[in-house]
Amino acid sequence: MKRPIRIVLTGAPGCGKGTQARLLHEKAGLCHLSTGEMLRQFASKNTPLAQNLKAALDRGEFATDEMIVEMVSSRIDEEDCQKGFILDGFPRTLPQAIALEEILTQKNIDLICVIKIQVPDEVIIDRILGRYACAKCGQGYHDKHLKPKISGVCDICGSTEFIRRADDNRQTVENRLVNYRKLTYPTISYFEKLGLLRTVDGTGSIENTAHKIFEILGLDISK
Ligand code: AMP
Repeated sequence: MKRPIRIVLTGAPGCGKGTQARLLHEKAGLCHLSTGEMLRQFASKNTPLAQNLKAALDRGEFATDEMIVEMVSSRIDEEDCQKGFILDGFPRTLPQAIALEEILTQKNIDLICVIKIQVPDEVIIDRILGRYACAKCGQGYHDKHLKPKISGVCDICGSTEFIRRADDNRQTVENRLVNYRKLTYPTISYFEKLGLLRTVDGTGSIENTAHKIFEILGLDISK
């Protein structure tokens, strides 16, 4: 049996982790596990705990390691993750990276690699401040670089409703970049020491970056 592809996609907020994970899901059937998406779903509930979490996310603050590790650990036991998965946005701190190694060892599974998508800050800020998505199917767009073919209509599902993330504003992006440097950077050297790190340049087009990632994973992008 082929070894399931289990990877971490890492890099600064806005580097394209979510977009590339969605492509890997569509073309290779890998389960896309976005901790940011899980947290946003939880934060959309009408409870005091959810509202507190929403306020923290809107400021670009991290959720606690305990909460995140627990969430990921139970999620990867689910049926749709058995063929392989992409961790998008996790681990984001060194304790989370160490906990991930422990969880995988306990479950007797391993990571193929950790792919870092490298993009300079000025590109990150431009991408994040201009991005939005279809409210119905989640297809991503950008004010300057990726407009729908017909203005105001989603190319994929025809919906006319779009959303922007509450944390995609300048102040929060700057906080998120500071947190990335301070808290997430150490995870990258951690994975490098384990010999798992692969770095791809994410400044080109979505297709360009996808080609590099699919090649690393030995997957055929044309399927
Ligand atoms: P993302 O969708 O990955 O950009 O995540 C959105 C927000 O969710 C981040 O800015 C953090 O506030 C929070 N978040 C996502 N993943 C994690 C994580 N692994 N640990 C802590 N906070 C997280």
